[in-house]
Amino acid sequence: MNLDFQKTGGLIPAIIQDHATGQVLMLGYMNEEALAQTQQEKKVTFFSRTKNRLWTKGETSGNFLNVVSIQQDCDADTLLIKVNPVGPVCHTGSATCFTDQKEVYPTHNGSALFLEYLENLIQDRKNNPSENSYTNSLFQRGIQKMAQKVGEEAVEVVIDAVAGNREPMKGEAADLLYHLLVLLAGSDMKLSDVIQVLEERHKR
Ligand code: AMP
Ligand code: ZN
Ligand code: ZN
Ligand code: ZN
Repeated sequence: MNLDFQKTGGLIPAIIQDHATGQVLMLGYMNEEALAQTQQEKKVTFFSRTKNRLWTKGETSGNFLNVVSIQQDCDADTLLIKVNPVGPVCHTGSATCFTDQKEVYPTHNGSALFLEYLENLIQDRKNNPSENSYTNSLFQRGIQKMAQKVGEEAVEVVIDAVAGNREPMKGEAADLLYHLLVLLAGSDMKLSDVIQVLEERHKR
């Protein structure tokens, strides 16, 4: 790495990205010392402009950012750091600092990537239990309720499939996917964990 810290007054912006999902989690600044410590400890340490000192993300919350890789941009004045976050990254409890319930998200046009978007939204609901939402009511009612909903929706899919009710079957399959995402979140499991199992089987 041949970063030019002097070019930008000693501080270089570091984009923090989730290694597994590609989601942008936060942005912080690093001086030479912060970068050296990050490389050494394999946990992200910034130079906090407000605290005016080195700040290891997670130092009080325990929500550390475990470093997977560090790269610089084309002209050596910005860092991209891929991480495995230990917990929610934002001090508000959100998975990322760029989460906003009123965010206008790009339409996915039926792409399966929407499931990841939905998974993150569900995780945000879980992290903000005061909100009154259907998703939160499921979390509050516990794992048995979440599991029961998956069972119910699965049976509804089966009934529509056997009866040849094509349009209603789509709705029930959507219900099933949503409730499965809730059950996974309730079980502290990621969709990517499940997909990895499928990928492993595919390799055999
Ligand atoms: P932490 O580093 O997670 O232990 O949090 C320590 C303090 O840093 C918090 O009380 C917040 O003031 C601040 N902080 C934590 N996470 C963020 C973040 N993602 N963005 C900005 N400030 C943060
Ligand atoms: Zn640049
Ligand atoms: Zn934040
Ligand atoms: Zn249903």
